[in-house]
Amino acid sequence: MTVNTTFLGLGAMGSALATTAWDAGHRVVAWNRTGHRAQSLRDRGVAIADSVEEAVADARTVVVCLFDDASVRDVLGPVSTALSGRSVINVTTTTPNQSRDLARWAEERGIDLLDGAIMAVPEMIGGPGSTIFYSGSATAFASHRPLLDLWAESSYVGSDPGMAALYDTAMLSGMYAMFAGFLHGAAMVGSEGVSAGEFVRRQAPFLAAMTEQLAGFAATVDEQDYLGPGQQSLRFTETALATVRQASTGQGVTDEVLEPVHDIIRRQIAAGFAEHGTARMFEEMRSAR
Ligand code: NDP
Repeated sequence: MTVNTTFLGLGAMGSALATTAWDAGHRVVAWNRTGHRAQSLRDRGVAIADSVEEAVADARTVVVCLFDDASVRDVLGPVSTALSGRSVINVTTTTPNQSRDLARWAEERGIDLLDGAIMAVPEMIGGPGSTIFYSGSATAFASHRPLLDLWAESSYVGSDPGMAALYDTAMLSGMYAMFAGFLHGAAMVGSEGVSAGEFVRRQAPFLAAMTEQLAGFAATVDEQDYLGPGQQSLRFTETALATVRQASTGQGVTDEVLEPVHDIIRRQIAAGFAEHGTARMFEEMRSAR
């Protein structure tokens, strides 16, 4: 027993975080709105509080893992006075501006807030391959490293409290676009009776190989060198996308997942950049800021 840590929220992720801390010897108090979800921790011997007030009463550190920003506000609002002078580590998924607003709210109340963004599923907590981004209080990050490092690789990305959420949501953008593209491809071959299982055997290694292209895109974007050697032009990519969309609708499968990508490329071509590299899509996206 070393540190008194309170966990608010014992959903799939909150339970994984609390269990890992408990198993490592931390003194844990936990609370969940719905009592039955606390049962597995209770069975391990963890103290389960009946109320948020009781849960935070003796906490040095409060870890918050709730559904969304609104639930964090609901839960922390009534106990803000008790939290004054404590560290709160909020690993609930939020937008960058929600994290910044919460940090302002915390600062006004003397609460030391560290914002976290978990890049892992609950089964990965405490194991290899997981990362958690943190931003906000550098002091809280430094002083809680022994706890944070139990869960995942801890990566501090800046004192701006919104940075962890910004990295998180930016990385999820790539993930969800990839998932949608995969499912679209599965629907295309599925129109001829090919199973998704058969498709994924071919698609997954191809996508993995394509990620090798990302570093080249990144260098192009950072150097703003869209006419450098070896780049696939927007004109080329536009034609390829038109072919894919035609193939899709020809099979009776909606092509709507590709439409926004195609539109971005066509706008850049209309602006006179047909021979620029495909990474120039970045300029179209950021010009919408
Ligand atoms: P769950 O849906 O399993 O749990 C949600 C938790 O929030 C429960 O404890 C729930 O309580 C509580 N809750 C919801 N609304 C309220 C409210 N108004 N007042 C009090 N408590 C509330 O989600 P996870 O545990 O999986 O996720 C928690 C956070 O972790 C989310 O922000 C999620 O985005 C993030 N995360 C999750 C990942 C995952 O793979 N699961 C991956 C990365 C981040 P109750 O049980 O009473 O409903």
